[in-house]
Amino acid sequence: MIQHLKPHATFFRQETRLSASNKNTILISPLCELNPLLAGHICREVTRVFGYPTEICPLLSDVEFVMDQDRLQYHSTPILERLAQAAPPNALKVLAIVAVDLFIPILTHVYGEAQLGGRACVVSTFRLGEGLLRASHPEDFRLRLVKEAVHELGHTFSLHHCKDPSCIMHYCRSVKDVDKKSMELCRYCRILLNDEIKRNSGIEELRN
Ligand SMILES: [Zn+2]
Ligand SMILES: [Zn+2]
Repeated sequence: MIQHLKPHATFFRQETRLSASNKNTILISPLCELNPLLAGHICREVTRVFGYPTEICPLLSDVEFVMDQDRLQYHSTPILERLAQAAPPNALKVLAIVAVDLFIPILTHVYGEAQLGGRACVVSTFRLGEGLLRASHPEDFRLRLVKEAVHELGHTFSLHHCKDPSCIMHYCRSVKDVDKKSMELCRYCRILLNDEIKRNSGIEELRN
């Protein structure tokens, strides 16, 4: 299960610099082959929902350091710690995208994980293609990946799981649940997010 960097990832590696040029940028950090069109969709949706610019910026070369030999899966929590350390100081948040099967010890698998109110989150494409032939359903796969990416970033903005099954912060046990939820935050989560963004910008102003 060694994950090799594919040409697209190499492309991003060569074309990007390891620092967010803008303040308050959300870094999207692919650790797997990621179609540039798909990366573009993720960036646009992240900016639409959170209102911050995004940059593609690979921060880690691989995630083999969290490979669990018994489970043959990858423990997501240490990836977050490593990402937060690797992120340049002016990056507001960092989202890693991996292709390996992630887990946390209490669950069989996770689609992703985030530091609640922190800087780092990760999402995996590994199980999001379930029930789809990716080549013939690129749109369905794209929607699932974007929803789960935004969901994990939502946690870094202190959003918790939402009971509304159509809200993007709804916790999904299966890809069917992911398909059912919308691309949007419910009214309640949107208010919480706006409050958090205001709070962050207030802290930022105090620092300057
Ligand atoms: Zn969640
Ligand atoms: Zn909600």
